[in-house]
Amino acid sequence: MLVLGGTGEARRLAAALVAGGADVLSSLAGRVADPVLPEGGVRVGGFGGADGLAGWLAEHRPRALVDATHPFAARITASAAAAAARTGVPLLRLQRPGWTPGPGDRWTYVDSLAEAAGAVRDAGSVLLTTGRQGVGAFAGLTGRVLVRSVDPPGEPLPARAVLLLARGPFAVDDEVALMREHRVDVVVTKDSGGAMTEAKLVAARELGLPVVLVRRPPLPAGVPVVATVEEAVSWTNRLRRTRAGTEDGPSWNR
Ligand code: NAP
Repeated sequence: MLVLGGTGEARRLAAALVAGGADVLSSLAGRVADPVLPEGGVRVGGFGGADGLAGWLAEHRPRALVDATHPFAARITASAAAAAARTGVPLLRLQRPGWTPGPGDRWTYVDSLAEAAGAVRDAGSVLLTTGRQGVGAFAGLTGRVLVRSVDPPGEPLPARAVLLLARGPFAVDDEVALMREHRVDVVVTKDSGGAMTEAKLVAARELGLPVVLVRRPPLPAGVPVVATVEEAVSWTNRLRRTRAGTEDGPSWNR
């Protein structure tokens, strides 16, 4: 079983599959300097686009492929769909739901980081939590920008940027304190969904602050999608039951 990872869900899925007796190989892009490693086998680095991944699948013949990458990791998700279709390897997309606004939320959705930058160009103090990739879209901002990311961005930062290196999960009280300390007047985030980084949205609600959310890229057509690790485990169990004992090859094919 090959799991395309880089998310908390992917790690929980690998742990659940290993606990259930499956041999699992997780694949990481290698972007984060010190990643939290999943249980089971791990490989690191790109495959070389859809062609490279298709070649890898044809060579290693995993029983199934679960794409549990981040909702904004659109290139690897497109590669997975194309490579699975070409090789006939069953593919499941595991993607957590996006966030939904509640009473009191002042959310604005935009389609890109560039549009998000335009939406906050007049803000005095921005909390930017879109991750280090694409941060250059905000380089022209002239107000204060608190840039929070796991690793340092390799792109130009706004003139008055303050860099805060931190990895979630974050607590609501800490987020409120951070926003007060930096006198944040707008929060910018991707619609990543999930509990790990949701606290900033609760904090913004408590403080009455507006939030700009970048919409998710669309999913490839024709790929089954589940929202939870439990559903993904059920899907893999069904496959294992229907195809038990019919394959040879590396042990993580089972
Ligand atoms: P991306 O734009 O979709 O991927 C860029 C390239 O990185 C892919 O074409 C692929 O290279 C390689 N790649 C990505 N994920 C991979 C994986 N799990 N295993 C092997 N190769 C992978 O993705 P991204 O936005 O750069 O994200 C990179 C990784 O960080 C993903 O695994 C994702 O789950 C995680 N992540 C992303 C975000 C985010 O906001 N984008 C946030 C948290 C975590 P080849 O074409 O050479 O195969």
